[in-house]
Amino acid sequence: MCPAPDSLDDGTGADGTAGGQGPREGAKLYEGVVQDLIDELGRLPGVGPKSAQRIAFHVLQADPVDVRRLAHALLEVKEKVRFCVVCGNVAEAERCRVCLDQRRDLAVICVVEEPKDVVAVERTREFRGRYHVLGGAISPIEGIGPDDLRIRELMTRLADGTVTELILATDPNLEGEATATYLARLCKPMGLKVTRLASGLPVGGDLEYADEVTLGRAFEGRRLLDV
Ligand SMILES: [Zn+2]
Repeated sequence: MCPAPDSLDDGTGADGTAGGQGPREGAKLYEGVVQDLIDELGRLPGVGPKSAQRIAFHVLQADPVDVRRLAHALLEVKEKVRFCVVCGNVAEAERCRVCLDQRRDLAVICVVEEPKDVVAVERTREFRGRYHVLGGAISPIEGIGPDDLRIRELMTRLADGTVTELILATDPNLEGEATATYLARLCKPMGLKVTRLASGLPVGGDLEYADEVTLGRAFEGRRLLDV
């Protein structure tokens, strides 16, 4: 599976508007609805002004059937997909595929930041437990504190003693480390085995961009968090 990092976009980013290029110039050139489309596309993660223009003109030239299918997919995903009531992963029912799977080990929970990290860990085929998606990481700069994440829900899941190991698989960056440390301290009195993925993951990176082999090894070599 090939990751598509944001950085692989046209590379113009916000700087693409310098010197009168980009959407400001476009605002004079394009009719209203075309510019609306470019503006909306430009709000997507990893899509710079040049990519937004390229996609907009691709849509303009595309077969109406293809465009309708794309629009349908966008609407469907918002209508049909929701978040699992147990773990916070994306789900098409009340519970996600992993939580519904009776073969998964109930004693282990892997804590990740986003649903896309669940996909990354699943790709390794190293993990047979269940997940807990926090919905982000603690970041004082962005004003995200523990109460903004699904930490209370995690504590509820841990309360009945079924779970014996918590694997903290937050991103290997500042926010991810801070979140892991916070959770390790919080869970320590509960007598759980709390582990963190082994080093070898690119520091400062995103879990989802780690290849399966690296992430798989990090799982095998996870270490006890001593806080
Ligand atoms: Zn779930």
